[in-house]
Amino acid sequence: MIVMKFGGSSVANAEKVRNVLEVVKTRLARKPLVIASAFRGVTDDLFRLGEEAVKGQDPSVDKLVARHQDCLREMGLDPDLLKGLFAELSVLLKGISLVKELTPRTLDYVVSFGERLSTRILAAAFTKLGVPSEQHDAFDIGLLTNDEFGGAQPLPEADAEIKRHVSRMTKLPIVTGYVGKTRNGDITTLGRNGSDFSATIFGAAIDAEEIEIWSDVDGIMTADPRLVPTAKAIDCLTFAEASELAYYGGKVLHPATITPAVRKGIPVRCLNTFKPGHLGTPIVPGSAGAPKGIKSIAHNLHNLLLTISTPRMLQGHGFLARIFDIFGRHKISIDMVSTSEVTVSVTLDSNRNLEAAVADLRQFAEVAVEKDKAIVCVVGEGLRSTPGIAGDVFQSLKEASVNVLMISQGASKINIAFVVDDAECQKAVQAVHRKFFGA
Ligand code: ASP
Ligand code: MG
Repeated sequence: MIVMKFGGSSVANAEKVRNVLEVVKTRLARKPLVIASAFRGVTDDLFRLGEEAVKGQDPSVDKLVARHQDCLREMGLDPDLLKGLFAELSVLLKGISLVKELTPRTLDYVVSFGERLSTRILAAAFTKLGVPSEQHDAFDIGLLTNDEFGGAQPLPEADAEIKRHVSRMTKLPIVTGYVGKTRNGDITTLGRNGSDFSATIFGAAIDAEEIEIWSDVDGIMTADPRLVPTAKAIDCLTFAEASELAYYGGKVLHPATITPAVRKGIPVRCLNTFKPGHLGTPIVPGSAGAPKGIKSIAHNLHNLLLTISTPRMLQGHGFLARIFDIFGRHKISIDMVSTSEVTVSVTLDSNRNLEAAVADLRQFAEVAVEKDKAIVCVVGEGLRSTPGIAGDVFQSLKEASVNVLMISQGASKINIAFVVDDAECQKAVQAVHRKFFGA
């Protein structure tokens, strides 16, 4: 079996649904299990509806309903197919607007509708077009998670549960990405872009031969093409490189994606739904024969940079432990860290619980919080073995007059990350790209 995951840009309307079917048809002999995201933009719409509801407004689902109904009509499918889900969503939003409360648990329930809707359309469309298919909500076929709403992790027993359910399926399964359920039956989500993670969770559980991640780009790129129009698809990546890129870039793959695939050594391939003949980027175990140099430059914007300083850190001990204990207690996760004799700098991607944590830190240190910072991360196995690459990276930044605020080299030695102002991010990525890829 193989897993084929289609992202929101591949499933955006009737024409794209037909296109997805064409791609799936080329793989039928390999017994695919299809995982799909919500239609493009629908998850964002659902988050917005939740926010409107909690403000006591009466949010309208009309636009969302119309979009899905249009698709059903264009494909000649049963217009009542999604009626039950639309009603369920309306009642839920009404409830939120009445109680004016939106817990992480309820929010996950709200945003789960995107995938529950899109997969029902896909299964009905495929069946009508001659490939008998069956829709499944992932949580009904074994995807059990913990209760970290908004970023849930699969439970160890999920593997066996999924395997048991899938082994009984006779039609092409079309499964919701992004969502799971706790043992208590509450719907959870795996975090934004979580459908990739669903794909590898399912792939690992069923011991898939390969996991294909289909989107609207040619594979994993040497840089984000919106910043660097000359960026190209990478020929091949190792698991380690892909994890670093997913973690810092977040665009192509959900950061946790690789973990289940690594556990079972299942190759993952990123492909373009609109150019199915293109080989895409395979992600493979091991680093043997990895070429020298770097593979890709990832970036992400809108981070916070915290600088924590105290003269007392000088030759002191326990300072770092105290700082990280505070972050831990406030459930704040840190992306980059660098330390000097008297300061510790860290980056965070959200200000959730930050105020309280900063107040605690200020009990014993000075804290500066700066907004709008970009992390740029240069990744490649070659960094481990080729001297001078870091020098080239910073030389190119110097030539482009980019001011670097913080630097860190991962312990894995396959990435160098640095922080610049959001406003300088494009310039930085372009400069490094030019240095290593010539354009
Ligand atoms: N629909 C979800 C999101 O937009 C999950 C996904 O697309 O992978 O984040
Ligand atoms: Mg995605």
